[in-house]
Amino acid sequence: MRAARLHGVRDLRVEHVPDPEPGPGEVLLAVKAVGVCGSDLHHYLEGAIGSLRSHEPFVLGHEFAAEVVEGGTLPPGTLVAVDPNRACGACEWCRAGHGNLCPHVRFAGVPPYPGALADYVTARPDELVPLPEGFDAATAALLEPLGVAIHALDLARLKPMASVAILGAGSIGLLMLQVARWCGAGSIIAVDPLDYRRRLATEAGADAVAASAAGVMEWTNGRGVDVVLEATTSPDGPQHAAEAVRIGGRLVLVGIPTGDRFAFDASMVRRKGLTIKMSRRMGDVYARAIAMVQTGKVRFDPILTHRFDLSETARAFDLQAEYADGVVKSVIYPAGVEEHGGRRS
Ligand SMILES: [Zn+2]
Ligand SMILES: [Zn+2]
Repeated sequence: MRAARLHGVRDLRVEHVPDPEPGPGEVLLAVKAVGVCGSDLHHYLEGAIGSLRSHEPFVLGHEFAAEVVEGGTLPPGTLVAVDPNRACGACEWCRAGHGNLCPHVRFAGVPPYPGALADYVTARPDELVPLPEGFDAATAALLEPLGVAIHALDLARLKPMASVAILGAGSIGLLMLQVARWCGAGSIIAVDPLDYRRRLATEAGADAVAASAAGVMEWTNGRGVDVVLEATTSPDGPQHAAEAVRIGGRLVLVGIPTGDRFAFDASMVRRKGLTIKMSRRMGDVYARAIAMVQTGKVRFDPILTHRFDLSETARAFDLQAEYADGVVKSVIYPAGVEEHGGRRS
């Protein structure tokens, strides 16, 4: 089969590799759609994500949908989303219901566990998420980042009519914006330095937009918002979030900073008495993610901007890295873009 393998910084090659062998009880899946995630870009641009580095050619991709080929109980040809998070289920954190924090997790697309930018993958039956009628492959793939957004809002504990700022109007920011509305946010401001992303934030339902966190203070007449959801890749993002939140407010940090470090002015976060919550992947969210899509509470069309064949994976990653051509989310189709009725952008 073909797989897009990362050999080093900005060195992604589509190569022929042996087909994966399903283990006992596992299902063989034909991959249909894979979203390119900000975390994939950290691997592409930095060769690592935080302290995690692969020394072997490596297959990225954890936001994906696939069709059953053989194994399991679903009929061959069934389209499913796949939960990339295989927690151990036995450790103290798993037993407490925090599989997203399991230290023994096997996460598809995080070294050393290969991801989905390939023709075929294997999974356990309990990792397959069955879909309602009418879901296409890209919609199914984007349930994973939507799940990340839902988990972040679970951590935000919004009160009815709370004011919210979203820092970073990339795909996670634009999804959190839409989910925040259904969690009772009364007013939402989205902050992004890129003009086209501010426009998309307005389209996705933001009440206001700003190019920098200073705009949040202006918008709230110097008070700051109740909750800031941070989803940038900037090491300064958390500090900007702390500047934009009100006294006694709450920060949820979702973004992964380039370079694996960030800093706060201690005096500011201390004097404001802030609550700061780190968000890690997601909890049990698929049922709610599906319900939000099914009932039209969340739209993927402002986010899904580009579609590529597997052979064009490197081009997709370069486009994402350069923030070129109005890109937010690229989806890669190993079986071909046209086969799935995808329009090319
Ligand atoms: Zn992701
Ligand atoms: Zn565990």
